[in-house]
Amino acid sequence: MKLECLGAGQEVGRSALLLKGKENILLDYGLKLNPASSDVDPEGDVFLSKTEYPKKIKDPLHAIVLSHAHLDHSGAIPYLYKQSLQTPLFLTPPTLDLSNLLWEDTIKIAKITGNDAGFKPQDIITANDSAYYLDYKKQIQITPNTKVTFYDAGHVVGSVISVVEQENQKVMYTGDFRGSESQMFRGYDKKLPAVDYLITETTYGVENHRDRKEQEKLFTTEILETLENGGSVILPAFAIERSQELISILAKYKINNVPIYLDGMSKKATMIFSQYPEFFTDFKSFKKAVEKVEFVKNRKKRDKVINKQCIIISTAGMLEGGPALGYIKELGADPKNRIILSGYQVKGTNGYRLEQTGKLLIDGKSYQPRAKVTKHSFSAHAGRDEILELIKRVNPRKVICVHGDKKVTNDFKEELKRIGIDAVNPQNGETIELQ
Ligand SMILES: [Zn+2]
Ligand SMILES: [Zn+2]
Repeated sequence: MKLECLGAGQEVGRSALLLKGKENILLDYGLKLNPASSDVDPEGDVFLSKTEYPKKIKDPLHAIVLSHAHLDHSGAIPYLYKQSLQTPLFLTPPTLDLSNLLWEDTIKIAKITGNDAGFKPQDIITANDSAYYLDYKKQIQITPNTKVTFYDAGHVVGSVISVVEQENQKVMYTGDFRGSESQMFRGYDKKLPAVDYLITETTYGVENHRDRKEQEKLFTTEILETLENGGSVILPAFAIERSQELISILAKYKINNVPIYLDGMSKKATMIFSQYPEFFTDFKSFKKAVEKVEFVKNRKKRDKVINKQCIIISTAGMLEGGPALGYIKELGADPKNRIILSGYQVKGTNGYRLEQTGKLLIDGKSYQPRAKVTKHSFSAHAGRDEILELIKRVNPRKVICVHGDKKVTNDFKEELKRIGIDAVNPQNGETIELQ
């Protein structure tokens, strides 16, 4: 077998890996939003947003396996179904629901901004018609010579670590995975089989996360202090996973003396999460937490929200559009208020700009909020030690490091070599022999 790296080679984003053997199996086909090349002005005055696709697939495709719904893994899949492709798509039910939400939103945003989404609603329907659901821990023959088993990746609802077996070789692909427990999920399934090759994400390949409890304490203390001083809190958050995690943390620490509002795509994502109790560690607590939150349904309601002391959880997580920007515009001028970023900010995004320079772009103009800006990263990715732990668990002959910045994948690969594990960090377009 061979592995062609079509995307996520020495970068975070547009995950796309093609296993080539008796049958060709595509692992994810995602988009890269706002790559570093667009980050032309560190002062935050020029902002260029661009979408990058993975490399084109030149070989016949026998199956697509999707690890989870995030756009950097799923975003370009409808594009593949443009020519009425018949290739089966294997995933979990929540992954399909959440992907549909993101794909439809991609078309909606393209319409508003006058861009081309790269695919049409019909292509989403064709992708849905080609979809087959797999359960965790059940090996399924997906094509005549290929078997696949899904394991819980603990990253978002329905996310999987997959093991692809072909020609007596086992290849594991982690997608994105979480090492330790969150409010909602257990972390990845620790009962993984030994494999021949491991393709792992390395987003945090050279750093460990701060202790989770400590992080929650600092985060909630900042919120409580802001509320005590009469301020409101804006929590820009990713629609899928982070918004629901923040809702759960607020409930756990009983922060409910002011209204909590949810806005943007997070609303629909939260409804989808609520349909899959079997994926949660404690669904009852999640349900109760969601009941404490009010969904902001329209613009009229939005105007009311900003006149009250409150906590607002809203997309976009990296402040690339979404109602969060409107809230910052309205509430950002008051130094009593606070904006807390809660996740990884990709270089070149508005969130990255705010984090680095204290400024961001709203309606094309540079804006510097007087509200305090802080960041607490509730990462849904494994930290360095947790990636190493997974590698030791599955004991591969070779590790292929992807989904990490160039320096990170390189340092991580070198570290693996130092401890006697063969490792590579391919570039996009590179093919690796798996023999
Ligand atoms: Zn992800
Ligand atoms: Zn990812």
